[in-house]
Order: sequence, then structure tokens, then C-alpha cells
Amino acid sequence: MGDDLDMARSLADLLRFDPATGDLAAIDPRGTPGLPKAAREDPKVWARAQLPILGGELFAEQEKLVAAAKTAGSRQRVLLLIQAMDCGGKDGTIKHVVGEFNPQGVQIVAFGKPTEEELAHDFLWRIEKALPGPGQVGVFNRSHYEDVLTVRVNSLVPARTWRARYNKINKFEAAVVGSGCELIKVMLHISYAEQRGRLSDRLQDPTKYWKYNPSDLDERRKWPAYQDAYNDALVKCSTDAAPWYVVPADRKWYRDWAVATLLLERFRALGLAYPPPDFDLDVERERLAQEAKVNGT
Ligand code: ATP
Ligand code: MG
Repeated sequence: MGDDLDMARSLADLLRFDPATGDLAAIDPRGTPGLPKAAREDPKVWARAQLPILGGELFAEQEKLVAAAKTAGSRQRVLLLIQAMDCGGKDGTIKHVVGEFNPQGVQIVAFGKPTEEELAHDFLWRIEKALPGPGQVGVFNRSHYEDVLTVRVNSLVPARTWRARYNKINKFEAAVVGSGCELIKVMLHISYAEQRGRLSDRLQDPTKYWKYNPSDLDERRKWPAYQDAYNDALVKCSTDAAPWYVVPADRKWYRDWAVATLLLERFRALGLAYPPPDFDLDVERERLAQEAKVNGT
């Protein structure tokens, strides 16, 4: 069992897309790589039970990130970038995983069709503006990758324009990482059949009609072109500075566990610690004691 987390060094190692050998079509969207032995009996129940535990740890890590920025002037921040086909589970992942953080320190940005103003600028303009500040956890729901995905599939710009973007993206991301931002790029990988099921749910359930967009079906017809575009983006933009992680996402419980685990692994690698006081602890304790004497409590 090479894909068991008890054996592998990390989930990141298992899910990291290797640009030399990687092939999106070879990754099973129903797969559950990396679940530890403890999960074997009932993986779904196990993964769902893990989520609040991971969430508690994520919350504590985020607090240390905020504290470091506030008291020690640290430039560190974290950006989770999520891409997926329609119905891929971006919203669900954000709700279940990102929802575990303290909302005060989280900045979620969704990128839809560019506005007139955005179109008048370079494609990275709106992205750069939305980067998280020091101490923040940023989440991108879609991203600059749309400019080599939907834009490419629908020929919204000439081919030479989108072809030039992979390099620009790599340079941009290297600069972002160089400035102290941990960048975690996650593709939620669902199957064609799973997308159909989820679209069907949206058409059957009155509480989900609002999530359905008739154009989703037009895009679905272009599935092979999208998969090719995704594969190219993964191959061309999985760099050492900013690798891609492909998370099998047909099973929602696995998807949530995997994204939470990827985030936690990255936070732990930062080795964050609560900063020491930037005031004299003894003096302040004594002042509080004196103040309590004066006021009687
Ligand atoms: P849901 O999955 O819940 O439907 P969503 O992410 O699809 O949410 P929408 O507002 O429905 O959100 O769709 C956003 C749309 O904007 C997508 O169709 C996406 O392809 C499109 N989009 C994003 N960035 C660009 C871009 N740079 N150029 C053209 N279209 C873009
Ligand atoms: Mg949509």
C-alpha cells in the first residue's frame, strides 16, 4: 500500500502533481490516497470525525500566523487557490475546511467573468490586488488559471495570448511565494459521471436550483477540451516554488479531509510559534496585582 499515509512522508507528497510524469486522466477521481490504517474500517465515518480535529489545529495555527504578523511584523501569509470543473465542490470545500478558521483572518475571493475594468488590465491585475495581507489566510475560488482554462477552451483570446500566460503565471507565483506567501494550489478532480449526478441534483432539489446555470451544460459538452486544458496547466505550472495538488473529489468526505490535511501539513512546516511578549511580563503582572488591590477585585 504505497499510498497509505502511514507509509508516505506526507499527503502533499502523494497528491503533488509531477509535471514530468503526471497525467490528469490517470488520476482516479474516486480515489482516496493517503488514508491511514485507522480509517480502514469505515473511511467515511473516520474522515468526517477527523475534520473538526483538523479544524481545531488549523484554527490554532492560523492564530499563530496572525500573532506573528501583529507582534513580530512577520510577512507570512497563506493562500489556498482552488480550481475545479463546475460542480467540483469548491463551495463545499470552502464551507467545510475554510469554515474551521477564525473568519476574522480569512479573506475569500471568487473570480467570475472579468469586468470591463478588469479586462482593460493585464489578467494578473485583479489577482495581485486580491492577495492576502500578512497574517491572513486567503482563499481563491477560481483564479488566474481561468485565463488558461475557460478562456482557452472558449477561445476568448488568440492562442498566442493564452500560450504566453503559463510562463507569466510561473513568474508571478514565484514572486508571490518569494514575498512570504505560502501558496497551496488545489485542483478538485471530479469525474464526468459525478458532474452529471451533481447537475441532476441541482435540477431536482428546489433548494439547489439557484446553483444551476444553463451554461453549465454548454461547458459540460466541452469536457475533453477542459480536461486537456487542465492537464496542460498542471504540467506547465507545477513548479518547485508552487506545485499543484490534485485532490480526488468524487467523494466529498475524502476531499474535505485531504484539503484540510494539506493545509495543516503546510502550516506545520512553517514551524509557527506563539510570539513572546513584547512587554515586561513581570512588570505587567505586578501592575495588574496593584490595580486589583486598589479596586478590591
Ligand atoms: P458554482 O460552481 O457554484 O456555480 P462558480 O464558481 O461557477 O460557482 P459562477 O459565478 O457561477 O461561480 O461562475 C463564474 C464564471 O466566471 C465561471 O463560468 C468561470 O469560468 C468564469 N470566469 C472566471 N474567470 C474568468 C476569466 N478570466 N475569463 C472568463 N470567464 C471567467
Ligand atoms: Mg457556476
